[in-house]
Amino acid sequence: MSAKDAFARIQTYLLEKPRPLIGAETIQLVLMREILDYTILRTEETRELKTLHTPFSMTKNDQTVRRVAFLATKQKAAESRELEHLLRTARKVAGLPEQECYLKDNLCMSCPRCGLYGATSTLAGQQERANIKHRIEYSTAFSLLSFEDVATAATFNAINDRNQITGQALGQRFAVQPATLFPSIVTLKSVTKLELIMVVKTLLSCKSYGAESRIGGDVRNSIWGIVAGWEEVITSLELTLELADKLDNLNSNIIKEILEEKYKLMTGNPQHVTVLEPEEVEGLIQACANIDLDKAFLEKAYQDVADYRNEQLAR
Ligand SMILES: [Zn+2]
Repeated sequence: MSAKDAFARIQTYLLEKPRPLIGAETIQLVLMREILDYTILRTEETRELKTLHTPFSMTKNDQTVRRVAFLATKQKAAESRELEHLLRTARKVAGLPEQECYLKDNLCMSCPRCGLYGATSTLAGQQERANIKHRIEYSTAFSLLSFEDVATAATFNAINDRNQITGQALGQRFAVQPATLFPSIVTLKSVTKLELIMVVKTLLSCKSYGAESRIGGDVRNSIWGIVAGWEEVITSLELTLELADKLDNLNSNIIKEILEEKYKLMTGNPQHVTVLEPEEVEGLIQACANIDLDKAFLEKAYQDVADYRNEQLAR
């Protein structure tokens, strides 16, 4: 499948340019996030695995199980940082001047990262008009299997995050075991082809989720499905509960079937929902990976954000 064919099926859900006023165009990437090392997916507050009770599956919804949560904020923080790193290196290789985008404290508001993930102006009095609204949305992912199946007690050097001193005590905490799967959805709203390409590259390249300082956090993301529409078609929790019914037969055909035969029919605009076939998903992902973040790509992507800002400030 050529790169052109790969994008053709979702053409109508992609914008020519990013714009401050967004429409309904929505693309959902259906991911499987696989944990590759002992990892504590903790909350900042408790430093413990974040778990919660959900139904066992869609059909066995009278039984509840305790699942581990992979928080949206954790996914977003790692992937936003990954895109920033990719852009910095790509600019260097392309011979473009370095452009700093400090995360949190002082966002540049002029790079594709800020354009997609959003940014807030730190200049006093400018807040309202200067903010860039995010067009990439995350939701908490839930482990496919139960906490009892995926968690294991692990011993760590207790590290005090405040002063970074390794404490005396060896803390015993629960960690997620390698090979644990988290079905997960990343939703793109009114994005361009270039932005879709950058997101796919980011998801494929991001492997470190810094779950616990210097311990574990390795994850591999694979994209198992793509659905486009005028609205969000499925959520992460629904995806987990659906797949929990299909544990013996997990594959991208199943995801396609679930989307086409159930969730598409539940939308407000089913005539405007396109579910890609597994081979189309593969073709599109391959096409995105094969497109180089070269000088021409970067100049266009940065110009798009500059134009977005100009349009926003002119309003
Ligand atoms: Zn930026």
